[in-house]
Amino acid sequence: MTDIRGLVAGNWKMNGVAQSLSEALAVGAGLDAADFNPEADVMLCPPATLVAAMAEKLSGSKVSIGGQDCHANETGAHTGDISAEMLKDAGAQAVIVGHSERRADHGETDGEVFAKGRACHRAGLTAIVCVGETEAQRRGGEALDVVTSQIRGSVGEGCTAANTIIAYEPVWAIGSGLTPTIEDVGEMHGTIREVLGAHLGADAALGMRILYGGSVKPANARELMSVAHVNGALVGGASLKAEDFLGIIEAYC
Ligand code: PEP
Repeated sequence: MTDIRGLVAGNWKMNGVAQSLSEALAVGAGLDAADFNPEADVMLCPPATLVAAMAEKLSGSKVSIGGQDCHANETGAHTGDISAEMLKDAGAQAVIVGHSERRADHGETDGEVFAKGRACHRAGLTAIVCVGETEAQRRGGEALDVVTSQIRGSVGEGCTAANTIIAYEPVWAIGSGLTPTIEDVGEMHGTIREVLGAHLGADAALGMRILYGGSVKPANARELMSVAHVNGALVGGASLKAEDFLGIIEAYC
């Protein structure tokens, strides 16, 4: 474990209606329990329809709220899109940008992800910038090169340890129950830290959180979170149930 404070962030993806807020409330209550004191920050990123309600219900709790995507512009004729400023207005403190599902489903490029990250900064929000290789790229021995290139293209000027978080999420590990070996996670996170240093400078790189994401569960969280340069987790499926999510957060107790 490094001296960078951990973050466990839950990505609800396109899941959750008003009734599901009870799970978020249970996370908040779990964190308030006297005998549960994780050394990590906790965030939930619900679908945009729930950001305001979740932020209101969890106001004063130890759970912060994030969005899952934003447009690069502040306002304008972009039907169906949401700006970083709107998410901030609804109570978000961060936004996930460049998730592999958005890169795949919406063809988002590194340049667009960078612009979305800048939009987060413009709004005073933290950008959680996702990168990760596909299974074919991992099998082809290209994983380090692919992620290096994604980092160079998706983060840049204006990105600091205070306003940017990297989430390394191997595409093949997302929702599959598969995870890379501890050695592969360590190699990738160490490489990301080095690339950030060369690209942004030592100050930004040394303090920047690098999360691991992809099939993190209560059963594997402690081992994954103990790898050098892993500063927390981005959790999909297991963040939907408070019990599972709290079980992951427990890795920081
Ligand atoms: C994700 O999509 O960000 C993710 C990590 O999903 P899961 O935990 O379900 O693999």
